[in-house]
Amino acid sequence: MIIPTPLPDEFCKGILGRVRILNGLHSSKEVLNHLRRAYCAEDGKPVPAIALLARAVQIVLPEFIRSHSLLPLIRAVVLENHPTRHGASNQSEILRLRGFKTFSKCAYLCLDCVREDESFWGFSYWRRSHQIESVPWCQKHGSLLHRIYRADAYDHLPGSLLNESVQVGYSKTILENAVLKRYAQIMNDLLDQDRPIACKNIIALFNKKTRGLGFRLAQTGKRKVLSDLAMELVPADWLIVNFPKMEGKSKGEYISTVDGINVSLTPFSIAAYALGAALLWESADEAMHEISILPGTDVVPRQKLRFGQAFWNSEALLQIYVKHEGNVLNIAKELQANKRHVGMELMNAGLIGLGSISWRKLNLAYEEYVSGKSIKLLSENYGIRLRRLEYYFGKISDRMLDALDAMEIRRAQSQIQRRKTTVKEASPKEKATLV
Ligand SMILES: [Zn+2]
Repeated sequence: MIIPTPLPDEFCKGILGRVRILNGLHSSKEVLNHLRRAYCAEDGKPVPAIALLARAVQIVLPEFIRSHSLLPLIRAVVLENHPTRHGASNQSEILRLRGFKTFSKCAYLCLDCVREDESFWGFSYWRRSHQIESVPWCQKHGSLLHRIYRADAYDHLPGSLLNESVQVGYSKTILENAVLKRYAQIMNDLLDQDRPIACKNIIALFNKKTRGLGFRLAQTGKRKVLSDLAMELVPADWLIVNFPKMEGKSKGEYISTVDGINVSLTPFSIAAYALGAALLWESADEAMHEISILPGTDVVPRQKLRFGQAFWNSEALLQIYVKHEGNVLNIAKELQANKRHVGMELMNAGLIGLGSISWRKLNLAYEEYVSGKSIKLLSENYGIRLRRLEYYFGKISDRMLDALDAMEIRRAQSQIQRRKTTVKEASPKEKATLV
């Protein structure tokens, strides 16, 4: 079977879809039947479908869950007091029932992402962060998402279904709303979590914070409740779709699905906690920090979780590196990860961060160096400080040379392209001189 490398933020159901397409199969169900035959356990015990897929793409299960499924968000807050990690060996029933679970019957895509993916990868893919139904916009492009209502949407590439896609029915005001921006960041941070949060711990945190800000916790009373703040600060169209009980709410009225997060011992949907946190804290980072220090949460900083080792060593990462010509800041932006962390991971994976030096100069200088020229002379000829050049040459790996070669090819291709365009646009007389 041809098995693709999962791309950054690629949704597990979309990965199944790509396996289907690459192997000419009819449905993701058929893909799973094949995977079952190829990757089932030696002892013959049934393996949850998502674990089969993780085996096929050679990513350890907990990491696969954290990077490619919605489970960390669907099970972000649980009843157990000492929750085990997502994808742990005692969770096969949860994985079987909810491994591929989505928030919605629709599949969501961003038109800009589709366009960018098609021009960069040659095809488009389903992003996990777009499938959070209550965050119906692309955080990279800041535009409203489009949805596709069909059961087998993920079996196809998003780009092939554009004529069936419809923009979500929200007003653009939701894109500029400060609470919803925090909400989206919190949801995305929770999506990367290693393990669920115990409900009793999060109640204690929210209870203290809500009381501290002077809101009422009881169902009756005169003081404001949290849902009053939601009504004031959050666009009504978003609020009513995601919290239908908010429709027609009067001032001071207690809405259990919003105000109950401070008291209910049964976990609510994650949307309720994320909205609470976005309302109660002034920054998403602060809220996530307080959540991360709750007992037993073991929250690992986001940037450490986003991508596993397999990703940094993958062809996909090499292509991203080439696309951005080694510029760490731009690579970090593309991956939506911390710049320092990305720089370190690139270095470990044999790729040098090239923010301040041109890759072309480095490549030309290195070629001359290999053919016997002294570093000192090259430093003068190329205007790169000697120490710097020594440092770069010392770090050049086979992978780095592959990347530099790929950049040269890319440069040559774009020159040919530019030449073609110029020829097309030029007048016949000019064409004669150009050709
Ligand atoms: Zn986008």
